[in-house]
Amino acid sequence: MTTAIYPGSFDPITNGHLDILKSGSEIFDKVIIAVSYNIEKKGFLSVEKRVELIKESVKDLKNVEVDSFEGLTVDYAKKRGTHVLLRGLRTSSDFEYELQLSQTNNYLSKDIKTVFLITKPEYNFISSSMVKEIMKNNGDFKQFVPDPVYKYLSNCDI
Ligand code: ADP
Repeated sequence: MTTAIYPGSFDPITNGHLDILKSGSEIFDKVIIAVSYNIEKKGFLSVEKRVELIKESVKDLKNVEVDSFEGLTVDYAKKRGTHVLLRGLRTSSDFEYELQLSQTNNYLSKDIKTVFLITKPEYNFISSSMVKEIMKNNGDFKQFVPDPVYKYLSNCDI
């Protein structure tokens, strides 16, 4: 049985993240989507809220678990008993960053393997920061995020 960890900030989760997660859940026996956080860095949404919104957004995916962790991803993977990480790729700039991250993780833990899935063209330009920017400026971001995220962000005054 192969479990993959899908780590990220997910601040908030977008349809692009969800697409990678769905594909990952078809490949692996189980995928743990894990919000990585740093107590010194305040995010846009609290970690608890990010986890809650992800849970609501993935409730139909039976082999997906939602969690959060602080510290190194390789340590979290070890703790969860796996050596497989899942990440998504959009553009060549993602590639540069992900290459560095993947090689660093490999340096820290020899067993770790990162599997990359390429996003569908329609999700290519979606990012959490773009969603936040549109939201703060009262634009329409409905098609970029899962319904629970849209409902929450449309009704809160962050
Ligand atoms: P991080 O801060 O760790 O980069 P993100 O939440 O920004 O966390 O992204 C988590 C993962 O999801 C990364 O691998 C990122 O490239 C991928 N990702 C982000 N947005 C998209 C998207 N629109 N389509 C596919 N993958 C995406």
